[in-house]
Amino acid sequence: MENLGKGESRLLKTATQMDHLLSEVILLQGDYVAKVCSRCEEPCCNRVQHLFDEKDTIFAKVSGRKSVPRRKHQTSKGCPFLSPMGCLLTPKTRPFTCHRYLCSRLKEEMMKHDPGLVDMLTEQFRLLEDLRAKLWEAYLDVLAATGSSHGAMGGAPLRPHRV
Ligand code: SF4
Ligand code: SF4
Repeated sequence: MENLGKGESRLLKTATQMDHLLSEVILLQGDYVAKVCSRCEEPCCNRVQHLFDEKDTIFAKVSGRKSVPRRKHQTSKGCPFLSPMGCLLTPKTRPFTCHRYLCSRLKEEMMKHDPGLVDMLTEQFRLLEDLRAKLWEAYLDVLAATGSSHGAMGGAPLRPHRV
C-alpha cells in the first residue's frame, strides 16, 4: 500500500513538472506557430493520422484531463483533429510529437527573430522526453504494486495544426 502511494505521488509529481515545461514550450512557440502554420500550404497535420502514444495517455489521465481521443476507423487522409479553423484540440491535450515537430519553415522563422530559440526548445524537448520516460516508469511501478495489467488510474485500459 505504501509502495502504491509512493508510485502515485511520483506519477503526479512528474506530470506536474511536464505540465509546467509544456506551458513554456507552448508559449515560446506560440507566435511562430500562429504566423507560419496558419499560412502553411502543406500542413504536416494533413500528412499524419493518430499520433497519441501510451505516455500521452498516461499524462492526460494523471493530469486529470479527459482521456485522449481513441483511434477511429478512418478513410480520409490526415489527422482527424484538423479542422478548417486549425487543430480542434487545446494545446495541452495534443500528442507530444505535435509540440516537438519543428519543420524547416518554422525553424527559419524562429532563427530570423530569435537565434537561440531553436536550441532552447530542443533542450526543453529533451527534458520533456526524460520526464515522459519517468512517467512511464512510475506508471509501471503502480501497475506492479496493484498487480494490475491496466486501469490503475481510473479503470479504462490504456491504449497503447498546430494553430
Ligand atoms: S509545422 Fe506543420 S503546419 Fe506548421 S508550417 Fe510546418 S509543416 Fe506547416
Ligand atoms: S496539431 Fe492537432 S491537428 Fe495537427 S497533428 Fe497534432 S493533433 Fe492533429
